[in-house]
Amino acid sequence: MSEHPGAPRARIPVAVLGATGAVGQTFVRLLEGHRWFRLAEVAASERSAGKRYADATRWIEGAMPAEAGALTVRPCDPAGVASPIVFSALDSDVAGEIEPAFARAGRFVLSNAKNFRMEPDVPLVIPEINASHLGLLAVQRERRGWTGGLVTNANCAATVAALALAPLHEAFGVRRVFAATMQAISGAGYPGVASLDILGNVIPFIAEEEPKIEREMQKMLGRFEDGGIVPAPFSVSAHANRVAVEHGHTVCLSVEFARRPDAAEALAALRAWSGCDVVRGLPSAPARALRVMEEADRPQPRRDVLEGRGMTVSVGRVREDPVFHLRLVATGHNTVRGAAGGSLLNAELLVATGALRE
Ligand code: NAP
Repeated sequence: MSEHPGAPRARIPVAVLGATGAVGQTFVRLLEGHRWFRLAEVAASERSAGKRYADATRWIEGAMPAEAGALTVRPCDPAGVASPIVFSALDSDVAGEIEPAFARAGRFVLSNAKNFRMEPDVPLVIPEINASHLGLLAVQRERRGWTGGLVTNANCAATVAALALAPLHEAFGVRRVFAATMQAISGAGYPGVASLDILGNVIPFIAEEEPKIEREMQKMLGRFEDGGIVPAPFSVSAHANRVAVEHGHTVCLSVEFARRPDAAEALAALRAWSGCDVVRGLPSAPARALRVMEEADRPQPRRDVLEGRGMTVSVGRVREDPVFHLRLVATGHNTVRGAAGGSLLNAELLVATGALRE
């Protein structure tokens, strides 16, 4: 396979902030053997700083990459972290101060935290949907005087729903969405939800989750125009539930459109969609961002969450709806497509489009 024309001449050193947590570990896993990036630095709280990564981290899945295990965990301070690309898997309690400090110091920060997603000069990016929103970086630099930049990815459930809705919005114009989620335990970080709370149970509440699902999709599906984002004109009603699933958020969607499609038209639009061309060939881009399933009982997190190495969202049960126009179900990997993998793809896009100079 020939390399992408925007590939860097040498692997770019990168840092992971919050590297000891659930999303941080996913970054470390996905960066092992990455074609464009080399994990050079890991950072976390003062509790972990100064320790070897292997000693500071309660590793959750598979084997820890040996090179990462030997790194010394640094404090989250730009003075002690040199990499030009910084992936942030920080708690939102601390991301608000730490992430801008890195952008001010000339680094490109790819954030998973909620803090800056809705700021008018901060791109909220899923490259297949809205690569053009990176145009906001010029506005951001001018407004904030940063020499680096801050790019965010969305809430993990909003990411899954936005990928399922993007082709339908393009073709028929989404007007109203009812979304009920079934979200995996890994979405709560580590150690996350107590086993006695979740085993054999459903918890019909996830703190601060519903407002994110109700507002982030309109920004992602909006248009970049005159230096700002014009949000897509639809409203969302969300119910967020935590369920006893390890990885993979499932979202049941009922949708009303400007132009009502029948199920066959909707299926055709979903199948035909491949997203922005610029993504093709990037190291983390899956062969297809969306997989359309016709089996009556799919998608399911256990069977479908690893599709496209966790970067593909599976969509199924596309059918007409007696109250809204259409119903469908989408499943995607929350710590991969919904967090670390999404951030990696955003960083690859920055490199490939020349927004980040070597
Ligand atoms: P987590 O497992 O609780 O990890 C939190 C990380 O933040 C740890 O590395 C921790 O380091 C670090 N940290 C905490 N306090 C700090 C401080 N004062 N200074 C520096 N570092 C500090 O959480 P997570 O699930 O990985 O989530 C990380 C972020 O991603 C959150 O903003 C979350 O909302 C977002 N997110 C998560 C998911 C998901 O599916 N889990 C999906 C999308 C977005 P120590 O180990 O040293 O304490």
